[in-house]
Amino acid sequence: MSEPRLCVTVTAPTTLELRRLRDEAAKVADLVELRLDSVRDPDVAGALADRRSPVIVTCRPEWEGGRFGGSEEERKRILADALAAGAEYVDVEWRSAFDDLIARQSGRRIILSMHDFDGVPADLAARFHAMKSTGAEVVKLAVQTHRLSDCVPLLECCARAREHNGVVLLGMGEHGLATRVLAARFGSLWTYAGTLRDIGQISAASLLDDFSFRHIRPSTELYGVVGRSVSHSVSPAMHNAAFRAVKRNAVYLPLPSPDADDFITFARAIGLKGASVTIPHKVALFDRLQAIDGNVDVTARRIGAINTIRIDDDGKWNATNTDAIGFLTPLRERLAIAGLRASVVGAGGAARAVAVALTSAGASVTLHARDSSKAHEVARETGARAGSWPPARESWDLLVNCTPLGMHPRLDETPIAAELLTGRYVYDLVYNPAVTRLAREAAAAGCETIGGLEMLVAQAEQQFKWWTGTDAPVGVMREAAMKQLAESARHENYVV
Ligand code: NAP
Repeated sequence: MSEPRLCVTVTAPTTLELRRLRDEAAKVADLVELRLDSVRDPDVAGALADRRSPVIVTCRPEWEGGRFGGSEEERKRILADALAAGAEYVDVEWRSAFDDLIARQSGRRIILSMHDFDGVPADLAARFHAMKSTGAEVVKLAVQTHRLSDCVPLLECCARAREHNGVVLLGMGEHGLATRVLAARFGSLWTYAGTLRDIGQISAASLLDDFSFRHIRPSTELYGVVGRSVSHSVSPAMHNAAFRAVKRNAVYLPLPSPDADDFITFARAIGLKGASVTIPHKVALFDRLQAIDGNVDVTARRIGAINTIRIDDDGKWNATNTDAIGFLTPLRERLAIAGLRASVVGAGGAARAVAVALTSAGASVTLHARDSSKAHEVARETGARAGSWPPARESWDLLVNCTPLGMHPRLDETPIAAELLTGRYVYDLVYNPAVTRLAREAAAAGCETIGGLEMLVAQAEQQFKWWTGTDAPVGVMREAAMKQLAESARHENYVV
């Protein structure tokens, strides 16, 4: 099968604007989908005039998620006119009764489409075969995804469709991103890009630049970050930049997932090679991996949580936690840790990793949390002691913020009042913004400060090495993270 093409969908209120966007899209796209239903007064000849790229003409009715409110006769005439005018494809909804149009074309240049905005229908495979039997040149199935594992029936459909050419399989919504980026793996003739965010489309620039769409083959290794809300994670930018720099045939995606079982089902079906694990799955996946006889290393077991998974070719699952070493790396470059009085603020997942890292390195660690029972629990499990809230003046050499206070958008917050900042070093795990209120006030009080970006990069570099067996290219992940954080800040108008 040839490589999947990139189709950019364009919508506009006027034909003139649609044509302008069509020509803009054609600079990067192999195909442009002209959504005539978005135009106030659809004009086939005008939309097709002077085009330089192949097009799909679509006139989606309201009953299939589009905006065309006219009669079905009118709609059929628009599609027939598009065929007569030489459009490479027209998109005909399976539920429309345009059999005569399909028959007249003997299926040629017809995309027969089915969109299910509720979810994945139980009879997806039967629908696929029924649609294929009409003789349509291309069958397009688009289903709403609510979890990662909703992509699995599409993969199964792809396996059945192997003997047929001409299929496009799409998972709509953020959980379906893999179906768009990995069109090659799903056997799709093309993928759609554009601005229809509500159905999960991403821009052509993002597909091409962030996810290297042109280089993705069925054999491309898949990695990702699994968490509940990962669409703004910096990890895809860092890991994709590193894969690109070393020319590895791999891609890294945000993998939003409601729970551990959903993620495991998806990972097994698609042949995932590895994942970063983030909130709230670090503990749940730690437990699940032990239950499925995964190999959880000693660092992760001490912390009681994982942040990295690797799946070997024989299907064996392995897990570790690179937060501890990622945390220590920038610290070791600056000071000797043994004997240091360290106060860890917070008692969540990061605090556990930091407390384990510091106690292992010989520091004397005290945990401080607004809920003292949590401080006691984490202290007991990590070899630290629990202290008062907030930490007292003169009681620490190193203070580590493991709460989200100060993180965008809570820029004005800080976990520790300025007058309590009496020690030598303040390490803030928050990396967005790069300089938090805590860091500013600590520097003003004469402390040396360390920002969370250094840990973020160091733990990601460790993940890269654990997955690939080679060192991460120097500086690449840091640059990618800084670029993405600066872009987010520019969009939302704050200083990184
Ligand atoms: P978590 O498991 O949710 O824990 C957050 C901790 O902060 C909890 O102990 C929570 O206390 C406490 N907290 C929240 N709001 C507070 C407040 N207003 N006052 C006092 N304490 C408060 O989160 P996490 O995974 O540990 O992450 C914590 C922070 O570290 C996040 O900002 C995360 O982005 C950052 N982090 C950075 C890196 C890096 O590489 N730089 C790595 C991991 C984490 P309660 O339990 O009482 O709510």
